Amino acid sequence: MDGIVSNIQRFSIHDGPGIRTTVFLKGCPLSCWWCHNPENIQPFVQELYYQERCVNCGNCDSLCNYNARESAGKRLTTEDVLKEIKKDQIFFEESGGGVTFSGGEPFMQTEFLKELLVECKSADIHTVVDTSGFTPWKNIESIVDYVDLFLYDIKIMDNFQHLKFTGVSNNIILDNLYRLSNLNKKIIVRIPLIKGFNDNESNIKKTISFLKGIQLVGIDILPYHKMGMEKYKRLNMTYKLTGDEKPREIVMESIQNMFKSAGFKVKIGG
Ligand code: SF4
Repeated sequence: MDGIVSNIQRFSIHDGPGIRTTVFLKGCPLSCWWCHNPENIQPFVQELYYQERCVNCGNCDSLCNYNARESAGKRLTTEDVLKEIKKDQIFFEESGGGVTFSGGEPFMQTEFLKELLVECKSADIHTVVDTSGFTPWKNIESIVDYVDLFLYDIKIMDNFQHLKFTGVSNNIILDNLYRLSNLNKKIIVRIPLIKGFNDNESNIKKTISFLKGIQLVGIDILPYHKMGMEKYKRLNMTYKLTGDEKPREIVMESIQNMFKSAGFKVKIGG
């Protein structure tokens, strides 16, 4: 089987425990205003940076090492991806690391994801899936036995605001998280924190109230950063934020303390 991969990042230390290889699968049904990987949103197409300079020579594709600066998105087979992952297996074993499947939204390519997970488990590689949770439950159910840890994003509790700033309702996301927790899977909830969007007390209180019913390993608060801003220009896309949406340290600490007081293990950063 094959799928579209936008990047394979080796020696990653923010996408789960230990040293990891993160495989970014292309395509996402959300369109978050703060997304720093806009090249991963469009499914099944190769994205060209600086489209206007393209002369259709095809060199970017033939030379692509999965993280070329000129393009994002390459059709790879399961064997191609596994070969790349297994290059660092020794580091996984020594550091307690493994592979993380991220995106975009990895469930946009569920069959490909499943095949990769099955192969990784049979090679005894620790597996993490980093998801927005926006996918039919049957997709999650189909791969759950091959995943050691889920990184699960919760963005905004108010459904109207969620719809406005991500393009989708959060109903299915919250429902899937609840179901996943009932299967006793290991879950770390990740909350991207964006000033003026979800860092208000009301949203944090609602998040805490919802998460109290969920079994979690912990919570990671991921402060907004503007590193993706430049990519929007290169992809001829509109960036809707100003770049000044990183919450102040004092706000992040106060939010961290709110989660701690509610009994959660929480850290700032991935
Ligand atoms: S869910 Fe993640 S990849 Fe998808 S648009 Fe939002 S931030 Fe970007």
